[in-house]
This record gives sequence, structure tokens and C-alpha cells, in this order.
Amino acid sequence: MTLQTRRLDGVAAAASVRAEVAVSVARMAEAGAPAPCLAAVLVGDDRASAVYVRTKIKACLEAGIVPREHRVDAKVQESDLVALIRRLGEDDTVDGILMQMPLPRGIHARAVIDAIDPTKDVDGFHPVNVGRLWSGEDGFVPCTPLGVMCLLEKEKIELQGCEAVVIGRSDIVGKPMAALLIKASATVTVCHSRTRDLPRIAARADLLVAAIGRPGFVTAEFIKPGATVIDVGINAVSSEKAARDLFGEDARRLEDIRQKGYTLAGDVHPGQADGRAGALSPVPGGVGPLTVALLLSNTLEAARRRRAGKGWEGS
Ligand code: NDP
Repeated sequence: MTLQTRRLDGVAAAASVRAEVAVSVARMAEAGAPAPCLAAVLVGDDRASAVYVRTKIKACLEAGIVPREHRVDAKVQESDLVALIRRLGEDDTVDGILMQMPLPRGIHARAVIDAIDPTKDVDGFHPVNVGRLWSGEDGFVPCTPLGVMCLLEKEKIELQGCEAVVIGRSDIVGKPMAALLIKASATVTVCHSRTRDLPRIAARADLLVAAIGRPGFVTAEFIKPGATVIDVGINAVSSEKAARDLFGEDARRLEDIRQKGYTLAGDVHPGQADGRAGALSPVPGGVGPLTVALLLSNTLEAARRRRAGKGWEGS
């Protein structure tokens, strides 16, 4: 049986979140309050990280949020990086702190994240915010899973009582995704590299979220016909043979590889999901744009709460 697979439009959903943030920031300015400020810390010269930070800074500027970029040498001592993060926490002009990951070897991400002021932790990685999420309390939630929830809501996908399977248990995607789905009253199973008979478990899902980091890993046998499939993966595919397997003779993909050396693929095999899933978030154009949009919305929220002198306790 071949179904008509609906595309979930992350670009449109992200544009609407960004427009809402821009309106709220403009209202803040009209009321005489300073614009929200996001401090982005980038360590070293990892090309992908630099591109991500540039994208986030551009999005801030478009929404009226003031970006502040702190570029730090890759040879920085962990204690100096922690000191910078603490200074940003004490700086009253900064509302949100973004520590771009990954960090160079030798620096413990845990030590740096723990130094972020939880009220400015717009990525939602600090243990205080992780605890709040799992206790069902308000707090900052990591932007990617929050973006997935936003997409599901905008596309009117019913979650209550549905069977949801999340593949991936990372701190930034899989685990917070599971917490949010539990909060939305889905019945949630989390799978990972040690899960036995993964395709069988995945194929139970009404909602399947793939956050693995392997291009095209989720094939037809993982997908219950009609299921909603959310593809969080962002993987660079540089071989034309691999691209042909995933995208068929899509000229745009092959052109990408010839020009840039790679094309982006998700964790879901698009050719096999198409016609089997009821709805599918594409890569690119699905979850990725929402991650950036929700970072802006978290920064606005941080600024609002700080201006009002309120922590999350007041919510
Ligand atoms: P991690 O590498 O931190 O986690 C990957 C998870 O997938 C792990 O839990 C791992 O299991 C599991 N996994 C790996 N191989 C298998 C396998 N063969 N079978 C079952 N499970 C497996 O990655 P992230 O969570 O950070 O990212 C996942 C993907 O999402 C990546 O492609 C990343 O680029 C993308 N991403 C996209 C974002 C966006 O904005 N759209 C933002 C963040 C990430 P185990 O724990 O057992 O090792």
C-alpha cells in the first residue's frame, strides 16, 4: 500500500516563530526596555560550529536580538573558559548564553555547562533546567526537541495516548525529546545502539523520532504505515553513490556534492519513508530551522523573566 506522505514544513513553522519573537522584541523596545542580548561563545575554529554560530547570529539580528560573539582560542584552559562563562552570567546586559558545542579535547563540557547561570541557559543543558524538565516544571528546554514539539503542534499532530518511539538518547536531543513527549501524554520508548530488534520496536510507533547521526538509517521496516516520522539527523553525505541510494537521481543533490563536496541527509531514508509514512519532516527544511527559531524564543523568554525580576518559580 502506498500512502501520500505529507511533508512537515519546518521552514514555515520556524518563520512564524521568528516573526512572533520579532514582534515581541519590538514591543519590548516600545516599552523602553533594552533588547534581549544573546552571548555566543565559540571555541576553536571548527568550520561547522562557526557556520552554526553565524546562522544563529544572523537570526538574532533579524529578530532584533543583540548578538555578542566571543571567539576563544582552541588552546584555552578549561578554567579560563569557565571564568568567561561565569562573567557572562554576572553581566547584567547579557540575557542568554550559548556555548557552542563540541568543545576541543581536554575541556570537559560538563564543567563548562555547570558554570552557565541557569536563568541564562537558553540551550537548556544546565542540570537545573534538565531537572525542571524531568519534574514537569517550567524551565529552559533544549532547542531541538522543543522545535520538534513546535512543529508537531503547528502541524496538529495528536500526541495524547499515541505510541512514540525516540531513537537516540543524547542529552541534547533524545532524552529531552522523551521528557517532552511524556509531558504531552504520549507513551514513550527510547531506543539506542544497544536496543535489541530496533526495527520491530520502531514499527510500533505512531510517532517515530530519529536522532541517531547515521544517514538513511531508518528504512521502510522501521516505519508503521501512516506513522508521523520526525527526522532530526543532519549528516553530510559526500559520495554520489550514497546520495543516489537515498535520493535517487535527484539532480540537486548530485549538484550539491559536485559543488560543495557534500549534501545533507537525515537519519531517515527519504526514498523508503516516502509513500509509507503518513507525515515526514524533510532534511533540510524540517527540524533544523526550528532549532534556531526556538533559540531566539528561549532568549526572549530569558530576557522577559530577567526584566520582570522573575525566575521560573514565578511561572
Ligand atoms: P549523539 O551522537 O550524541 O547520539 C546519537 C544517539 O544515537 C545515541 O544515543 C546512540 O546510542 C544512538 N545510536 C547510534 N547508532 C545507533 C544504532 N546503530 N542504533 C540505534 N541507536 C544508535 O547525537 P545527537 O543526539 O547529538 O544528534 C543526533 C543527530 O541529530 C545527528 O545527526 C545530529 O547532527 C543531529 N542534530 C540535529 C540538530 C538539528 O538542529 N536538527 C541538533 C542536534 C543534533 P548510544 O547512546 O547507545 O551510543
